[in-house]
Amino acid sequence: MVEQRPPGIQDTMMNMLGLIENLLPTCSCGRPQKISLICQDEQCKKRQLQTYYCLDCAQTQHKHSISNIATYFEEYEKKWDILASILDIAKQNLDEWNSKMKELIDLVITKIQGTPNHLLQQREEFPELLKIFLKENEKKAKAKMENNFDQYVCILLKIDDFQRTFDSLDLIKNGLSDITLNYAFKQILLNIEQEEMLSLTEISSLYEIMKLQLNNRLESLLGEVACPGIQSLETFSADIDRINGCILANIRNFDLERALLLRFDMLDYKWKFEKFALEKRLKEREEELGRMKELWALEVRYRCIFLSRFGLGGHFKNV
Ligand SMILES: [Zn+2]
Ligand SMILES: [Zn+2]
Repeated sequence: MVEQRPPGIQDTMMNMLGLIENLLPTCSCGRPQKISLICQDEQCKKRQLQTYYCLDCAQTQHKHSISNIATYFEEYEKKWDILASILDIAKQNLDEWNSKMKELIDLVITKIQGTPNHLLQQREEFPELLKIFLKENEKKAKAKMENNFDQYVCILLKIDDFQRTFDSLDLIKNGLSDITLNYAFKQILLNIEQEEMLSLTEISSLYEIMKLQLNNRLESLLGEVACPGIQSLETFSADIDRINGCILANIRNFDLERALLLRFDMLDYKWKFEKFALEKRLKEREEELGRMKELWALEVRYRCIFLSRFGLGGHFKNV
């Protein structure tokens, strides 16, 4: 029986080189040898002139430790793959956030009137980055397929720039959340009047503004007293009851007038929030009822027509 030797590093490297053999040009030294190494030694005088070289040149020109070009390319390809999946996730998050916050963002845009805003800028820059990234990724694959070494390498190395650009979009990179919203639009949302917030159509938009305004006032009132603010849309009313109880229990620690005013406003917001939610539910039900009425009227009309013309009832399948 022939003993099978496990593949060594040398074998793996040769196999990897074999996979990209057609892509690799012959060495600039003039010998009929393909390049297989890359110079990564910053001290090497040949580095600029002959970045990629053959095994012969390794012995005569680049007398330093060697780096296999296939491994080097592999590492860069991996960087492309990793960034591609990160960008994909970031896109899904941004899309989700955009649709959830659409009404609020539109409102902020009208308020901001062109003043540069970190979040809005990144929200526009990200899709642009993604578009270019995907285009270059395609061009890279094409260059590899067509064995266009220079173009392939040129695009392959762009990944570091793409990574840097994405890193600079810190808000998108770190994941958009309520915290991002508060951070980016705080002052604008704090200044929105009740009448305006109540004219919005989405309960989630109303919630975000009310939460920010009330939590902001609560924080400035609390001082040493610990009391978590409003936590979620689903617990909005219960949170307000809890906070109001907490303020009351610690009332001696606060400026009385401010504390009572906040308690009043908390209740006022709670009542308006619940009214908003109820009106929305009733409107939906009304619409549903309207749809059913119209459908029923249509059916009755056709039953009458069939009955008068053919003596048939409402069984349209018999017609
Ligand atoms: Zn050479
Ligand atoms: Zn070198």
